[in-house]
Amino acid sequence: VHRIIEDCRQELYAHRPTVGNVGETHASTLSYASHEPNAALNRLVQQRMSPADVSGELTVSGLKGRGGAGFPTGVKWNLASKAEGDVKYIICNADEGEPGTFKDRIILGKYADLVFEGMTLAAYAVGATEGIVYLRYEYTHLRPHLETILAARRKANLLGENILGKPGFCFDIRIHMGAGAYVCGEETALIESLEGRRGEPRNRPPYPVEKGFLGRPTVVNNVETLATASCIVARGAKWFTSIGTERSKGFKLFSVSGDCARPGVYELPWGMTVQQLLELVDGQGAKAVQVGGYTGELVPASQFDRVMGYEDLGIGGSIIVYGQGREMLEVAENYLEFFIEESCGQCTGCRIGNTKLLDGVRLLQKGTCSNRYLNDLIGLSHSIKTTSKCGLGQASPNIFIAINEHFKEEIMARPVLAA
Ligand code: NAD
Ligand code: SF4
Repeated sequence: VHRIIEDCRQELYAHRPTVGNVGETHASTLSYASHEPNAALNRLVQQRMSPADVSGELTVSGLKGRGGAGFPTGVKWNLASKAEGDVKYIICNADEGEPGTFKDRIILGKYADLVFEGMTLAAYAVGATEGIVYLRYEYTHLRPHLETILAARRKANLLGENILGKPGFCFDIRIHMGAGAYVCGEETALIESLEGRRGEPRNRPPYPVEKGFLGRPTVVNNVETLATASCIVARGAKWFTSIGTERSKGFKLFSVSGDCARPGVYELPWGMTVQQLLELVDGQGAKAVQVGGYTGELVPASQFDRVMGYEDLGIGGSIIVYGQGREMLEVAENYLEFFIEESCGQCTGCRIGNTKLLDGVRLLQKGTCSNRYLNDLIGLSHSIKTTSKCGLGQASPNIFIAINEHFKEEIMARPVLAA
């Protein structure tokens, strides 16, 4: 599936339905059409907000990291503001490599100003002077557009020295290109790469807020998190908390692909069921939906009443629809090939375990796997999860575990040797 997406050149349905009126087309809540440009920075200056006011607004809003893990953004900014360091950094993680995820590409193409504004707000909140956008290699075509916007922001004194006339508010942003490694989307591998080394995840703690780029306190936020933070500071936490559910505030961008008639990027409030989303994208009758990209969760049709939100499916925003014609062992084979290709190789479970798992999937496909070996493969899957250092290895066997749980009859429909 990830290959199909990479090859896909069709125009995406960007920002179709939005908050409140699912099914109708509205201007996006992220769009400048819906609020004044640089409204957040203007509010910061006009209302003389302190750095603590900015992170406090985000804490009250309940915004959680949109890269997938859902760490509270206000808490992260607050921790970085308190961390000791002569220099602090803001990194925008634009290494959007999760298969099935292409929302950040749309944001960077349409609303990059909001992202840069979010970085500037973060810089003010934590006392950082330098910002870096770590841009996915495959998004090189976006760089000239982003540089043009950065230049315009410098000219308008939205970046540089004494921003908007505020003494001591100094911050600028540069773009650093990734080199095409999926694992560099993991924040510590990204930092290693920025420092000129191989992109290999570090042990955490210490977390980047304390010891990040060049050993200094660093905030690493996803593209969508930063854009959303701008909307919140512009409109106030109350506006954001009025949308979504009790534990999942606001709206979210979902990248939808696979076996549906209307793939694309959708901006939706948290709290929809998988079934409601499928109706929106004309994917009814699906066999399963992968929620949260390859590192997410496979939801079978019997669970389509599950809710998208941190109380149930707290996700990175990628939805891959599998129609009735999909062969789930083939799906697992595709996922495992991807993880094997992208593993950095530090952990034995991830490096070797996944190749063994893939061999097993191929034996199952050929009908030459024994029942005992099938059970060993499930055991191996759990070992890989517990012995892997980062999210890539920890999530890599999820698909195999899930198809064994939800599509066992499909596996057993082929010959499985008794011994
Ligand atoms: P994580 O939960 O370990 O950390 C999330 C964030 O919170 C990080 O920035 C981390 O530094 C911070 N954090 C966590 N605990 C902290 C603490 N005690 N003090 C200070 N900061 C703290 O998750 P992760 O391993 O960074 O990311 C995994 C997630 O990334 C997965 O959920 C996956 O869905 C997602 N993912 C996204 C993409 C994508 O393209 N967007 C790609 C792969 C994976
Ligand atoms: Fe590298 Fe895999 Fe270990 Fe992550 S789990 S650090 S990708 S070997």
